[in-house]
This record gives sequence, C-alpha cells and structure tokens, in this order.
Amino acid sequence: MALSLYVLHLFYKFKVLVLVTLCLMVLWATFSYFVDSRQEISKAKDMVQDFRMVTSLVYSQKEEKFESIAEVPTVKFQGPCPALSPYLQCSALQRVAILIPHRNREKHLLYLLEHLHPFLQRQQLDYGIYVIHQAGSTKFNRAKLLNVGYLEALKEASWDCFIFHDVDLVPENDFNIYMCDRQPKHLVVGRNNTGYRLRYSGYFGGVTALTRDQFSKVNGFSNNYWGWGGEDDDLRIRVEMQKMKVVRPSAAVARYTMIFHKRDHGNEENAERMKLLRQVSRTWKRDGLNSCSYKLLSVEHNPLYINITVDFSMQPKIS
Ligand code: UDP
Ligand code: MN
Repeated sequence: MALSLYVLHLFYKFKVLVLVTLCLMVLWATFSYFVDSRQEISKAKDMVQDFRMVTSLVYSQKEEKFESIAEVPTVKFQGPCPALSPYLQCSALQRVAILIPHRNREKHLLYLLEHLHPFLQRQQLDYGIYVIHQAGSTKFNRAKLLNVGYLEALKEASWDCFIFHDVDLVPENDFNIYMCDRQPKHLVVGRNNTGYRLRYSGYFGGVTALTRDQFSKVNGFSNNYWGWGGEDDDLRIRVEMQKMKVVRPSAAVARYTMIFHKRDHGNEENAERMKLLRQVSRTWKRDGLNSCSYKLLSVEHNPLYINITVDFSMQPKIS
C-alpha cells in the first residue's frame, strides 16, 4: 500500500514537472517571436530609409539644373505596383547602343554583362549591347574600336544614343541613367579606386554618352591613339571645339566599381599622346569617323550581345 502511494506521489511530481516545462517552452516561444518580429520591423524600417535616401538623390540631381531630356522623374513610393505595368503602354524615349571595346578581358565582360542587363532593364530602356573585339596582337586602339562600333551599329538600327563603355566599370547606382542628354554626358564622376572623386577636372573617360548627332558632329574619336591614354582627352577637346559642354550626373549617382586589373599587354602607355593632343584642332576634320578604315572579320548576334571582330593590323600608324 505504502509503495503504491509512493509511486502515485512520484507520478504526480513528474506530471507537475512536465507541465512546468511545457509552460516554460510556450513562454520562450512567445518571447522569441516578439523579439524576431521587432528585428524584422527594424530591418524593414532600414530598407524604407535606404529607399528614401536613393529617391532624395534624385531630388538633389534635379536641383543641379542642367538641361536634361533624360531627366529622372521625382519618385515617391506609392505602394504596390499595378497588376498591369504602365510601361507596357508606352515606348522608350531613345534607342540606346552600348559599345564596349574589348580584347582578352573575357571575365570582365561576363561580369559586366551580368550586371548591365538587369540594370538596363530596370531603367526600362530600349537597348542593344555591342562588344567590339580587336583581333590580333597589334597595339590596342580603344578609340578606333568605338568608331567601328558606332559605324557598324548604325548599319543595323537607327540608334539615337551611344554609350561608350569600358569593360571593367560596373555602375553602382540605378539612377545613373543610360540615356543621352542635350550635351555630351560623362557618367563616371567617381570610382572605388579613386576614392569616388573625379580623376582630374577634364576627365572624359570610362563611360560617356553622346547622341548620334553629337558624335558625328565631332567626327567621332581620333583613330590614331595606339596603346593606353589620350583618346578620351582628345574627344573632350573635339566636344569643346564644337561649343558643346560636358555634363555629369551628381557625384552620389555617377559611381562605379572598377574591376581591378593590371595594364594589359599590347596596351602600353602611348608616348605620342601629348603630341597628338596638341594637334586636335588641325586634325579632327580628317581624322575620325570619316577616315576610319578597318577589316571586318565577323558580326555575331549572341543572345546577350552582338560581337563585332575587327583587324587593325593593316592600318598605317600615323602620328
Ligand atoms: N581594353 C581591353 N583589352 C585590352 C586593353 C583595353 O578590352 O587589352 C578595353 C577595356 O574595355 C578597358 C578599356 O579598354 O576597360 C580601357 O583600358 P584600361 O582598362 O586599361 O584603362 P584604365 O581606364 O583602367 O586606365
Ligand atoms: Mn580599366
């Protein structure tokens, strides 16, 4: 009898223990639920804060007041998107061709394409990407490749705007709009490896946007810059000689990450560049789009870009 009473007592104690444990578990679950949801709320708050930060950049960009047909509308968050996107009922303002000079930078190209396609689609652009590949081992000529890109792209479609784009520069801000302006536009104010500051006051390299007419008015790039440097300054001089003015988006918007690289073989510094730069006013009319001769090896339409391969090895190296 005493034994069974003792067993009953033990059983009772066990039940109490189980109940207490259960209660503790429920309490713990409720507590952690509230802690989690509070964290979620603060995360969401941060996101909204970030969103506001980006839109306010657009406001400050507007205040700079340079004339812009590619002006970004002032956006305010208006809740969820409509089921039918309003963009399905309109067409893009400009047809934009992105021209990328290229040789032996396949990894950079893949990386850039992976970023550019979604970026350009978020901007709702009507665009095409042309990679202009220099075959052979002649000195690299970035400017001439871009002239070829312009001439060949216009054989396929009536592009309104051309973006001349280094393969290793990845845009960081969606509000850096890949459209042309009333004036030639320089899209790179800062990049990570220069502390996001303009390299020097007349810098016009990396990524630039010119309309079909602006580019043809300056007779395109010079064809005579073999190797690294100078061709971008030459283009700026041409632009200024036509009484055009380089415009730039605000520093907060025109930001790029440059994929790290060393100077390429076949693109050694061009020792002639200072001499060439002093002659621009005399040479620009006969050196440019109207004198750009090249051997076209192939034009391939890939799913993600159009590849144009050219050979410059038969070109005279005038300086
Ligand atoms: N480039 C290339 N292969 C080369 C040299 C240059 O594809 O061998 C292209 C590439 O698009 C690159 C651009 O030319 O981004 C400018 O050259 P680089 O990057 O050396 O100039 P940076 O602006 O870094 O001084
Ligand atoms: Mn580079």
